[in-house]
Amino acid sequence: MKRKELSIYIHIPFCKRKCNYCDFCSFTDGTEELHSRYVGRICEEIRSASVSAQGYAVKTVYFGGGTPSLLDASLFERVLSALRESFCVDEAAEITLECNPATAREGFFEKLRAIGVNRLSIGLQSADDTELAALGRLHSYADFEHTYFVARSAGFDNISVDLMYGLPDQTLDGFKYSLEKVVSLAPEHISSYLLKIEEGTAFWKRASELRLPDEDTQLQMYRMMTNYLCEKGYYKYEVSNFAREGFESRHNVGYWTGREYLGFGVAAYSFFKGERFGNSRDIDAFLSGKDITEERESIGAEDAAFEFVMLGMRMGEGISLSEYERRFSRSFERDFPSAERFEEYGLLRREGDRLSFTDEGFFVSNTVLAEFLSDFSKAVDTDGKML
Ligand code: SF4
Repeated sequence: MKRKELSIYIHIPFCKRKCNYCDFCSFTDGTEELHSRYVGRICEEIRSASVSAQGYAVKTVYFGGGTPSLLDASLFERVLSALRESFCVDEAAEITLECNPATAREGFFEKLRAIGVNRLSIGLQSADDTELAALGRLHSYADFEHTYFVARSAGFDNISVDLMYGLPDQTLDGFKYSLEKVVSLAPEHISSYLLKIEEGTAFWKRASELRLPDEDTQLQMYRMMTNYLCEKGYYKYEVSNFAREGFESRHNVGYWTGREYLGFGVAAYSFFKGERFGNSRDIDAFLSGKDITEERESIGAEDAAFEFVMLGMRMGEGISLSEYERRFSRSFERDFPSAERFEEYGLLRREGDRLSFTDEGFFVSNTVLAEFLSDFSKAVDTDGKML
């Protein structure tokens, strides 16, 4: 019997210092002893989840954070051993680890390679040291380059680099400079996100002082980035993700195409056997062995139809309209009447059976998808009245 595909996410919530824009779940008071206890609990959770995952094959594993690269490599070996003992992990599974240039140290990458980590995601954010300092990052561009070359010489041939744009005082040329520096190193994958000022962050507290690029400049940055990276041999396979052919993040593509996943650790989310559930951020409760699951919800047929559209539209190739109709026995035209208007505005494009965002559309995708939500709620409401 063919096994169903599964992805695994492991959250490592430790950082040296909190960056000014960050609202991810991370703690800055971690010690080696705490790291080890935390990983011990992750391994326990993995072992107890294994019974329910029979019949599944793990296709991707992702260590995210936080700063996974802060931990000793032997701790990842423990996690991967627990996974391989408890789950059927595909031999060719993509195993990614997020890495912060401020944490690179002797022998770390060789050890990761030896235990089967085969992809790195390095958080650079900017090639300009002034911008890095403004973001509260603990590394310089030179630290990043050093980390990148050490990882290459340890044998990593699948590296992603993270950038951000729309930073305080950043100009179009300043962002182009960061892109050029990164492209000159020829990583296989580049992610680039627009800075958002999230509630509770250091930036949030002094938001009125930040001189952020206006919306027009942000749009120009997005367009320039798309054109430049495409010119240099990367293709945009998702709203903020670019890859050389064959180097898309298989883990993230799994999220966007509806693959099931299990998340372990604080603030980790799962989508498994028709339910979505997430863990709280309460690390003390987690360490003491309590169940920290919260927000459990069943995904009904209508939720699944809506998610198919919301997640699929993030992808460069968009969605197949006939697949929507076949899988959910619903009419796309009836469920999302505003799509036609967005096509006329040049924000959506229809090619054969597929509907996707144009470059302009990607930049305002949140607005378009909010309209889709309103369309779909009305359609479902009408369904209810017809019953
Ligand atoms: S290193 Fe990453 S997770 Fe840690 S504080 Fe900075 S942005 Fe947040």
